Amino acid sequence: MVADSQPGHIDQIKQTNAGAVYRLIDQLGPVSRIDLSRLAQLAPASITKIVREMLEAHLVQETEIQEPGSRGRPAVGLMVETEAWHYLSLRISRGEIYLALRDLSSKLVVEDRLELALHAEQPLEQRIVALIDQFFIHHQHKLERLTSIAITLPGIIDTENGIVHRMPFYEDVKEMPLGEVLKNHTGVPVYIQHDISAWTMAEALFGASRGARDVIQVVIDHNVGAGVITDGRLLHAGSSSLVEIGHTQVDPYGRRCYCGNHGCLETIASVDSVLEMAQVRLSQSMSSTLHGQPLTVESLCKAAQQGDLLAKDIITGVGTHIGRILAIMVNLFNPQKILIGSPLSQAADVLFPAIADCIRQQSLPAYSKHIAVESTQFTNQGTMAGAALVKDAMYNGSLLIRLLQG
Ligand SMILES: [Zn+2]
Repeated sequence: MVADSQPGHIDQIKQTNAGAVYRLIDQLGPVSRIDLSRLAQLAPASITKIVREMLEAHLVQETEIQEPGSRGRPAVGLMVETEAWHYLSLRISRGEIYLALRDLSSKLVVEDRLELALHAEQPLEQRIVALIDQFFIHHQHKLERLTSIAITLPGIIDTENGIVHRMPFYEDVKEMPLGEVLKNHTGVPVYIQHDISAWTMAEALFGASRGARDVIQVVIDHNVGAGVITDGRLLHAGSSSLVEIGHTQVDPYGRRCYCGNHGCLETIASVDSVLEMAQVRLSQSMSSTLHGQPLTVESLCKAAQQGDLLAKDIITGVGTHIGRILAIMVNLFNPQKILIGSPLSQAADVLFPAIADCIRQQSLPAYSKHIAVESTQFTNQGTMAGAALVKDAMYNGSLLIRLLQG
């Protein structure tokens, strides 16, 4: 997060407790103060004080709960109040930017998708500021109180200081102080995270890995990377590192990769590489239903699902390469669940068994026995990943405390 100085020890405890209470109300509400005290393991007096501050700030509200079967007076329950609090969620990908307003329940208020040229005279951060200003002018009548900004993008990022060291596709970006620029421009805290890490957090908070303590999420798109949740926490959350499986060598004689090495997983399994390979194989073989139609991820996956041998072979090949690396990760992290986030999941019936077979053959049977390979719930589109950053900042108390202080 890019915000003001770090809190002291007492403030830190207050922040952590307030965040924990808010999380319980958000996830279980309506919930009584007595239950909160028990669940948060905090004294009733502490709960009363924290809840009073949240009520005064209009972050929670009271409601009546009638216990089923009880004829007594209804108990007072607490629920979060989210609609009057908005944040801006941004997502930058190849040639495009999404801008969205969401409320604190993560519900989408409005979302725009705009072109973002890969090269331009103006530095990227200034172009982003201009687009944000336009967005706010355009949607002024919908905007409630702005709490924060969340940004997700591919690249090498210092999430703590909001600096984007490098980005794929936007080659002019070098040490871009995006967090500082946006914070100075808008006056609200800015949360920046790598898009794959943020997507992994979003699946854990709202999606397919909800409730799981240990998860590996692999993303196969223009880039190949992974997010790991271990004991309920995102691995490398605070640092600039990503689980860079895309740059693990799978073919020593393979193509040169932009990272400087040869034969990285990404040069074989990224969606663009897969389509290129399919094109080459098609030119060598006549017997495929893919002849005579445009070659796209959709047509390739559809052909594979319908049993076309060439298409099946290509998708299985991707599964085997990914599965081999996942087998090593399974032995390291012993996950309950493996999620695949990819447009290639349109051929899930071919891709997922290829990955699962490989994991079963190549990792510790005791670990691989119960693993499920599933699709992510969200796609790598829109601004859902940014919602996870704001939710996380409410739950750890850092954003919540700012809102309580007004
Ligand atoms: Zn590489």
